[in-house]
Amino acid sequence: MNRSASLDRLSDASEEWDVIVVGGGATGLGIAVDSANRGYRTVLLEQADFSESTSSKSTKLIHGGVRYLRSGEVGLVRESLRERGRLLRNARGIVEPLSFVVPAYRFYEPFFYGMGMTLYDLLAGDLGIQSTGHLSHRETVKAVPNLKETGLYGGTLYWDGQFDDSRLAIAMARTAHLEGAVVVNRVKVHSLIKESGKTRGVVAVDEQSGEEIRLKARVVVNATGVFTDSVRKMDDPQVRDMIAPSQGIHLVLDQKFLGGESAIMIPNTDDGRVLFAIPWKNKMLLGTTDTGGVPVELSPKPFEEEVDYLIEHAGRYLTEKPCHHDIRSTFAGLRPLVLPDESAGKATSKLSRSHSLTVSDSGLITMAGGKWTTYRQMAEDTVDCFAEVGGLATKPCSTHDLTLLGNEEGESGGEQIHPSLPYTWHDIERAVKSEMATTLDDILSRRTRSLLLDVEAAREVAPKVARRVCDLLGEDDHWIDRQLNAFLKNSESYSAPTSQSASEAESEGS
Ligand SMILES: Cc1cc2nc3c(=O)[nH]c(=O)nc-3n(C[C@H](O)[C@H](O)[C@H](O)COP(=O)(O)OP(=O)(O)OC[C@H]3O[C@@H](n4cnc5c(N)ncnc54)[C@H](O)[C@@H]3O)c2cc1C
Repeated sequence: MNRSASLDRLSDASEEWDVIVVGGGATGLGIAVDSANRGYRTVLLEQADFSESTSSKSTKLIHGGVRYLRSGEVGLVRESLRERGRLLRNARGIVEPLSFVVPAYRFYEPFFYGMGMTLYDLLAGDLGIQSTGHLSHRETVKAVPNLKETGLYGGTLYWDGQFDDSRLAIAMARTAHLEGAVVVNRVKVHSLIKESGKTRGVVAVDEQSGEEIRLKARVVVNATGVFTDSVRKMDDPQVRDMIAPSQGIHLVLDQKFLGGESAIMIPNTDDGRVLFAIPWKNKMLLGTTDTGGVPVELSPKPFEEEVDYLIEHAGRYLTEKPCHHDIRSTFAGLRPLVLPDESAGKATSKLSRSHSLTVSDSGLITMAGGKWTTYRQMAEDTVDCFAEVGGLATKPCSTHDLTLLGNEEGESGGEQIHPSLPYTWHDIERAVKSEMATTLDDILSRRTRSLLLDVEAAREVAPKVARRVCDLLGEDDHWIDRQLNAFLKNSESYSAPTSQSASEAESEGS
């Protein structure tokens, strides 16, 4: 993938494409892969970097969603489990199986969770990973050595999938490109082109050169996550909002706070949410929260109360309890939850995670909601729909078995960029040469996950990486200054907010 080559392919304003996909997160990239694979002439435009919004800030699970069983959304769980099975097969090396322990602190919990997880296994059918099992007290502690032992009866062990969200996004962008789509980042759609009341294209701006790009197509797909309503309003300024953003944050801590290879899943916290503590790239990922009523923005910031909530709740289940100063990084993302018409006043944690596909009077197609896990099904539904709306020849979907381009991260060996970061200089070079990375933040946040793993290490290595990238891109020293300033400013929101709970501050002081 090469950005200027992609932009060149968009230079003829009179050319008519089959489809323009607006948005390069999980949803838009999935649609571009499916569309190009079916042979439709496809363009994807992303205003920032691929997956820069919600799709790089997930819990990094490809899962059925155990908690949706509790809310009776069996159909959603079954669909997610089916997609989980396909992704484990089609994106090997990026999506991997992971074992989870549900600790039991009440005598009936092993039975209760065992039943629930067995139903989960049954819903997965042939695409299951490994069977759920019961763990004794000793086996539970062996799987998660830092788990609080007082009052522990045992545990339930089940399996789900884990992935690197931004790496999967890049694998999808590369696959779409290989299948013939033009995918390009840092091109923002500002308005829609209408002909006789029908949406027939977009007016966009290359955010790097400032140049305007006009493109025509049979159909336009809005796959912009929490920005969905802004694109719908380009079509019809009077349209009612359909998205309720909900913020979720994660903390990244040292792996010793888990101590083993298995994750912990706490099915029911104070506010009825699920809490995950997951091993990820030799660190522990702790999440998440569900904070409604937040503004739509590309880079949301964790709130102090969210950090306090996670630290406090993790402490209830761990022997060595983490404190605020143990946090290596923290990041926030916004769920694009779809409001049913009658939902006014519903808490965001109660809104469904299933997706919604709508077609406006002008033919603008909007795909919103859903989960990373279900992106392929969302794409299949969208492409079936736009082929009909755009009067395109019907072609069957075959992404069920389509292997996504692999993940070669770290494979090549070579010198590490920093002792605390699992990346080599080869990873940096590849990101610039073939993964359309054009900023320091692209490289340190998404092509590598340095900023999410360890803010301090990412800041330390930033000047060296900036110098290398500058040379690769043929830029000058001003570029380095601008990139470093922007990156250091952005990195501030990955440091945990400074408040500490009174009791923690007290115990640290004593
Ligand atoms: C905290 C949290 C944890 C989660 N954990 C999981 C999980 O473990 N597993 C799971 O399956 N799902 C998870 N999800 C859900 C999943 O991350 C989202 O459903 C998914 O990433 C949404 O993808 P999207 O492409 O719809 O939106 P986005 O990722 O937001 O992509 C939309 C893109 O559109 C672009 N855009 C907007 N306007 C324009 C414009 N005018 N022109 C061009 N581009 C534009 C944006 O820049 C953005 O990149 C989680 C979500 C959150 C918030």
